[in-house]
Amino acid sequence: MREDFKTATKATLAKRAGYRCSFPGCGQLTVGPGDRSDESSGTGVAAHIYSAAPGGPRGRGGLSPDELRSAENGIWLCENHGRLVDNNEGRTYPASELLGYKMLHEAKVRREHAGYGSPFGWIAAVELTHAPVIATPARIDFGQATVFLGGEGSGKTAVTEWLMGMSDAAALWRWEASRLEYSVVFHTPEEHRVDIRAIPHGGTILFVDGKKTAVRPFKFEWLRNVRKDPRFDRPASVLGRLAEHLNVTTAELRNLFGAVGEHPWSTVTRLWTETATGENDEGELLSWEQLYCDVEGTKEGLPFEALSASEQSRVLLELLLAKGELVAAFAPTMVLVEWEETSLDRGWTRHYMERLAAHRMRYQLVVITRSYCDLEWANWTRVRFVGTLHDVKIEVE
Ligand SMILES: [Zn+2]
Repeated sequence: MREDFKTATKATLAKRAGYRCSFPGCGQLTVGPGDRSDESSGTGVAAHIYSAAPGGPRGRGGLSPDELRSAENGIWLCENHGRLVDNNEGRTYPASELLGYKMLHEAKVRREHAGYGSPFGWIAAVELTHAPVIATPARIDFGQATVFLGGEGSGKTAVTEWLMGMSDAAALWRWEASRLEYSVVFHTPEEHRVDIRAIPHGGTILFVDGKKTAVRPFKFEWLRNVRKDPRFDRPASVLGRLAEHLNVTTAELRNLFGAVGEHPWSTVTRLWTETATGENDEGELLSWEQLYCDVEGTKEGLPFEALSASEQSRVLLELLLAKGELVAAFAPTMVLVEWEETSLDRGWTRHYMERLAAHRMRYQLVVITRSYCDLEWANWTRVRFVGTLHDVKIEVE
């Protein structure tokens, strides 16, 4: 059955949107005076982000009936944009994009309402004018959850480095010898544009909103799962190695333990440490902090070292996403996950891809994969890297 919004939910959505249409660039007022002096007139519509009806075009994102009816799953639009979004059976506007529109609009309203707002940054697109590997011009649009699908060497990771290059000069080190010209379009929530022109061995020229500038003024946090580091195998405490992997201090890591397990996609329900003691080969008594984990599908309370590679990988992924959630409260954040660097099999990949795209995150998420290109990635903004080296075509679905 259809999971329609209750009247109260519609009212909440309208108020959260400041009674204005959330469609980018519209902002149409959806309330005003009525015919009689004691009447008001409303024209806005509460549209479903994930489909209200079974088999709807935007899917149900793994949400329960209650979640489909909740304000979380609604976006406030004017009548025109309400129709536009549901035209073509809603295929033109995937859920991931609507979530972005909603976040952007609510951030604007919040800022206007409070006089200031939490830090906000939303990467809308990268436009490539000249680039190695990829056929130009090309444009990549981002949703809240975006997946890069493509073979080895198709430039997926390169694009993430160019993206980071908008706020972090060091991200471009691999491209010093390349001719690279591109723009990043993003919202803070006002729309901005950074144009970057890298001259082979000649440095980089930057333009912000069309004006030449010496430095990168925008602060973005880029969180990546680091590549498997051979040093990762060296003898050290588990906590030390995890902290290194996540680029946090061990004190911060302990704080992250408290932040996992709260989400609909969580399969790691609890992480905690206890002091353990033992003897080394010389018979000396040692004590250390031992990490214990409750991970779905295996015995509760196992030490981290006793988990399988796939289970350890889930712990790492959930810690990375927990970090994303916390960091995004203070700076605009994009979490970039090289899926092949995790050890998640098809079943777990499916679990996370279904639930992550349906979840409201504070950060934008980009997953990069060559192995799971054939999976559906429903509700993700899908970007395909098609073709061979130096002539890769970008296809945004
Ligand atoms: Zn509108």
